[in-house]
Order: sequence, then C-alpha cells, then structure tokens
Amino acid sequence: MYCCANCFVSPTLKDHVNTEGSVADCDFCPSKDVKCVEVSALYEFFEPIFEMYRETEYGRDYFKGEDPRGEVLSSLIENDWYPIFSDDFDEDMTDNFWDALVERIWVDKDNLPKDLSALCIEKEGSFENYWDSFSDYLKNERRFTIEREELQHFTGFLPELLSSIEVKVKQGEEYYRARLGQGEKTKPFPNEKMGAPPSEKTLIGGRANPPGIPFLYLSDDANTAIAEVRPWKGATVSVAKFIITKEINLIDLTQSFYIKDQFAYGEDLPFAIEDNRILGRLGRELSKPVNPDKISIEYIPTQYVTEIIRNLKYDGMIYPSALGKGKNIVLFTENAVHCENVKLYQVDSVDFTSSEFDPWNVDSDYL
Ligand SMILES: [Zn+2]
Repeated sequence: MYCCANCFVSPTLKDHVNTEGSVADCDFCPSKDVKCVEVSALYEFFEPIFEMYRETEYGRDYFKGEDPRGEVLSSLIENDWYPIFSDDFDEDMTDNFWDALVERIWVDKDNLPKDLSALCIEKEGSFENYWDSFSDYLKNERRFTIEREELQHFTGFLPELLSSIEVKVKQGEEYYRARLGQGEKTKPFPNEKMGAPPSEKTLIGGRANPPGIPFLYLSDDANTAIAEVRPWKGATVSVAKFIITKEINLIDLTQSFYIKDQFAYGEDLPFAIEDNRILGRLGRELSKPVNPDKISIEYIPTQYVTEIIRNLKYDGMIYPSALGKGKNIVLFTENAVHCENVKLYQVDSVDFTSSEFDPWNVDSDYL
C-alpha cells in the first residue's frame, strides 16, 4: 500500500515522502502521479508514539468480573495527538492505513503493544510527576537557575512548542479588567486606577508575575472579568475596556494541542512531551483562582515558566478562566494597551454549583 505527502498533516511526514518517495498513484487519497512511499516504510516515525503506550493486562489493569480497560491503540493515537491524516481521509482509509502499517510491526518487541487493535493505555509513570519534582526543586532548592542534571533537559523544546501556539492579536481588539468597588459616589474608578497595580502593591506576586513586577490581567469579555474578581450579589464592580494599540504576540495556552508535528522529534519525543505537559500545567495553574492566604512560594514554578516565555519576547499569555466563560489574558507590559472607558456594574446574581466533599477527588489548590 502506497501513501503520498497529501495524505498527511505533519510537515515531517510530508518532507520524508517527498524526498524518499518514487512517483506512483496514492492508494489512499485521490492523488495520482505523485511521490509515494510504502506505508510500512513510515514505521520508524510512528514507533516513538507507540512506545508511549502498553497493552492492558488481566490481573494488572482489570480483574475478574470487570470490563477490560483501555482503548484500541489506533484510536488512542488519533485522540491523544494532533491530527495525522488529511481531511480527505475517512474512517475506512484510516483503518486501511493502520492495517498496512501494522503488517510490519510487532516482530518481537517486548515494550511495544502487539497489535493496533489491542486495548492499550498510556504507560504509567511517564511524566505526570515531572511538574511536581520541577516545582519542588524550584521552591526548595534553587530559585533562579536549574542545575540538577535530570532537570536540565527541561525547557529544551519549549521555544519550539511555544512558537506553535503563538497567536497575534491585532490593533483594535478589546479586553476587559474588573475591580471590585467604585470611585466617588456612583461613578466607577477613574481610567488611571484600572491599569496594573503599582509595583509596591504587588509584593506578594501572582501566578504569573514575580513579586514587585506588575502584569496586567485582562479577560476577553466583561462578564468573565467580573467573575474573576469573585463578587457577591449586589456588589458594584468597575469594569474597564482596554483597546490593543499595536499588534502583540501572545502564547495561547487554551489550545488543545501544543505539539503540532509529533513526528518531528524522533526518540526525543518523550522530552517534547515533558515540555508539552509543563505548558499544559502552566495553563491550568494560571486559571486557578489566587488564594490570598497561600504563601507566595507556591507561585514560583509558574512565575519561572512565565519568565522563560517573557525572555523569548512574547507579550503575554492567554489561558482559560476557571470562573467565567471566556478566556483570560496576562500582558507583561502596558505598552500596547489603552484604557478607553470604565463602566460601573452591579452584580445581579452569582451562580454556583456544589457537590458533597469527595476526598478521592480533591484539587488541593482550591482548598
Ligand atoms: Zn495520498
């Protein structure tokens, strides 16, 4: 079975087919007289991905009377990664591709699943704890440099991953910032009171900004900005509209995939995944509400990664809001925004849901 460069999304696979292939008709997509390779010749590109998974086993992953756990390897890969196949691919073509690829696989490799239709799960212990050891190290051992050997390769792929989730925000875009309370009488706070706080008021630091270095935290709609200040029913909130005055480059941590060419890394794929998880975790950490009672040392890991992003000359980050429906934006400087107006809002209702406390499902950062 032959496949061509048009079958794939990955620039790495496209390049490989175009350099190594010979002219033929593609067996998958409608392309004719194009460079093609045998599907099985692409095995080396898929192997590092297969190695992330293992087959589930009776007695280890599931027991008598239980349904076997896991998912078919090919669908795991299709769900866990950036799309592999071009839009032309339907389900049959995808199945045919996996079948053709599998023909050559699974000679006798102990650490690989035996076939693509087996139930598999992600190998445990891979990198889930990486953030924890990294953050313990920064909090308790070193603050500004990383010297411990096993943590040194960390950040190696960050610049590449960051460039794949960079978004440009054009001049004229609108963002919002809220502050609880109001100015004189029934007026909102004046424009000049709605920017980033002065540095002497940021001595505790935030999730992104180190102590003494103020950043501007905004939301992409007014209601999200209001939700972020956690108001009560009846509270008055001053909401400022900020306009972007020149194009800026932001890192969008709300995207589903940061690795957009999973075939580009070869055997280094596990390290790219570490950096991917660091960024994913950064987005989740940023979105959690700040607990004023928490000691500021807790925020050092996110401040550290933020500093790397700042060093790479990005202007800020976009991250999900845990409190509102929109997205939040943190800008590292106020150079590219202008406060257009401030309006006073009154909170009509505050919605929340709750459930009985479950000690097995605790997000300790909310406690
Ligand atoms: Zn094709």
